[in-house]
Formats: sequence, C-alpha cells, structure tokens
Amino acid sequence: MLQAVQFRGTAIQIAAALTATWAGAAAQSQPAEGYPTAEQVRERLYAAAEARPDLCVAVDLTAKYGTPPTHQGRHLYAIKVSANPGLDEDEPAVLFVAAHHGDEIASVLTALHGIDVLTEAYGTDADITRLLDTREVWIAPLWNPDGYESGRRLNGRHNGNGTIGVDLNRNYQSGWGTCGGSDTPGRATYSGPEPASEPETRTMVAWAADKRFVIVHDAHAGGYDVRTGYGCDVGHPWDAFFRWQTGEIIEATGLEMRARNSCCLARNIHHHIRTNLSNAFLWELGGKSGDSEAVREQAEQVWRGVVRSFARPISLSGHTIDATTGEPVASTISILEAGFTLGETGSGGGAFGRFDLVLPPGTHRIEFTAPGYSAWAISVMITPGSAETREIRMVRDAQGAAAPVGDPQIVVKPPDGRSVSTLGPISGVVGRGDGE
Ligand SMILES: [Zn+2]
Repeated sequence: MLQAVQFRGTAIQIAAALTATWAGAAAQSQPAEGYPTAEQVRERLYAAAEARPDLCVAVDLTAKYGTPPTHQGRHLYAIKVSANPGLDEDEPAVLFVAAHHGDEIASVLTALHGIDVLTEAYGTDADITRLLDTREVWIAPLWNPDGYESGRRLNGRHNGNGTIGVDLNRNYQSGWGTCGGSDTPGRATYSGPEPASEPETRTMVAWAADKRFVIVHDAHAGGYDVRTGYGCDVGHPWDAFFRWQTGEIIEATGLEMRARNSCCLARNIHHHIRTNLSNAFLWELGGKSGDSEAVREQAEQVWRGVVRSFARPISLSGHTIDATTGEPVASTISILEAGFTLGETGSGGGAFGRFDLVLPPGTHRIEFTAPGYSAWAISVMITPGSAETREIRMVRDAQGAAAPVGDPQIVVKPPDGRSVSTLGPISGVVGRGDGE
C-alpha cells in the first residue's frame, strides 16, 4: 500500500517514519530547515575542494561527459576524495550517490557528511587513510536536483499530459519496463518513455562506463534498511554473497537496519551490477527529511558501514593490455558459467586498462574479450580475503585465424609481486555464449 504523507522538514525524527512514502504528490518548499539548496550543495563540493586540494576535486559531470543538463537546466556534480586527487591514478573507483529521489533529502546530508568524515580522518584514522591512499572515492550528493528543489520524488520532465517527472530509479536499462515501475506518466514510479530517457540517467551511464565503480552505495530515505541484488524474483547468482556483505555493512554501522533484497528492477544499483559486475547496495536511511542534526548523527554511523564496504579487499584486479605494445586495451569481462540471466559483464579500460572485480568465494572462470584480440580465459580461486592481481596480455587476432595456442601469455602476479607464474591461452572452445 502506498500512503501519501506530507513531511515537514524538522518534524520527522530518524527511524520514526518507516512507512514508504511518495511525496511526488506532496509538494513542499525547499530547502527544509538545516538543508542546503541545490546550488548550495554544488558550492559545498567546490568549497571542500578548495579547502582540501590535497584530497578533493569537484567535477561537473554534465560538462565532463557532454550529457544533457536536467530538464530544468541544472548540471550534476560529484567530488572525488582520494590522495593525489588531481591525478588519474591506477586505483579502483567506488561510488556513493544520493537522492535519485528528490524528496529523500536526508540522503543528501548523509552524502555531504561523508566528505567531512573522510577528509577529517585522513592522516589520523588508519582505515580511512588507507582507503583514500588506495581508492578513488566518489561522492555525488544530489542526483535529482530538479526534484530536490521542488520537494518532489520525480525529476523535472514535463510528460506532456500535464504531469511532471520520471522516477529516476526506475529509468535504467537493466530490467526497464519489466517490474516495479509504472508506464503511466504521473505515477510515483513512472519509468519514463524509454530506458535511460532522462538526462540524469544518461549522465550516470556515461560516468559508470568511464569509472567502472567496483563498489556502489546508493542512498535513499523512507525505509530503514540496506538492499541489494535484483528485485521482482529475478535472482542474482551472487545474492548470498551480496547479502553477506550487507550484513557486514549494517554491523559496522551499529544501526538497527534490516538487510533486504531490492524490490524492483531498472534501478541505479542494477545498472552497476549488470554492466560492471559491481557490488551495489541501496540504503533506506529512515525518515526522508529528518531533523538535520539527527541525520548528521546517523550519517556518522552510516559512513562506518560505507567505509567498511569501500575498503574491502578487491578480489581480483589487473589490467588488460596489448601483449606487444603494453598499451591499455578496453576489454569486456565475462564470468563463464556463472548463471547470469541479464547479460552481466564487467570491463577493463581507461588510461591503464584497469579492471577490478569483487567476486564471491569459489572458483571462477573469467573471460576477457576485445575487438581485434583473441579471447582469453583464466581460472581464479577466490576466498573472502582474496586480493589478487592479474595482468591480462591481449594478443591481436589475425583476421580469420584461430586463437593462438601453446604460448603462455597470461602473467599471474600475486599482490606482493614476488613470484610470477603463467597460464596458457584458452582454445576457441571456451567462448562467449558457451555458458548460461
Ligand atoms: Zn528513493
């Protein structure tokens, strides 16, 4: 049952409003007391970058990726928090994004608080120092500025029938139109006219393809739980592993939150899970617009869980590079015989051909493909603490020729770099489409 509830900014205490609410119908003026305007959110990012140039860089993502501004003409922004933030370092990228739903404003404060948590603890807290030394942490505190400014869940699209707004968290391609969203403009879960129709969605798709976030946290408010996996009874083969991580995250927060499965598809987390093999989690942070001080207090605990997750071992990292030139190669990564049903793949790429995978414990057969190169597959045995590095040296494929055999090409390098072993190339038998 959906229940429309009118929220006043300071009236709702955290954890007091567990009822799912749909404020698309309950417009209010913004900002609520203690909350910044969309413009002030942007200013906070640039102010943080100015205050801590050693740790922060603010980025106009709309400009960077050339994606359309929001329907009301706004850009989307993020801040990178990492040592040497001005350099594109060879590090895994992780993401915290908030407020795909514009009225779930507690998520915005929670995201902004994360910047303070990370920058203030760097150099004194060992875990956070290591995190910022070894990862690119990206925080995007306001993904739906149009909705935020008008106190609405949906974005600013004029649907043409007198209604406004698309549910940005039902607009991604992964499972779009199958379940959990509405095809009726004006409904609180309207999925949009087509997959990724919205400027905000397109910006995230471009950003995700560029950064290939290995861990994603997507903040909402309303319920009080951490969700993962696919919804609508579409199982993900890694559900048990995702749920195990969810438990670990909640435990680190010390909050009485529940671990749950996602309840629909075409969400932001599903996009990252499906297109990058990311491990992605959705937070429901209690009351949508709780007392700002209480939200900040809770955020302190939330970020313990987020940091725990961001800092977890990356099971398998490495680079896909040209075996002859050493140049980075943009590759597609498939986990063979994994039981995926939505065409899930990961990728290597960027300035270093980097890839990062957090994999469930067990043995995985992983295939790397790239146009013009022979396919390669490796087998890896993963434990919960695995942090292996493998360099994948892609061999150019002479047109029409079979993949070369017999010549060891895949260098296996443990993280300590001491020993080096090699695996032979795979034959053409193991190819895409042979698995599920
Ligand atoms: Zn939401």
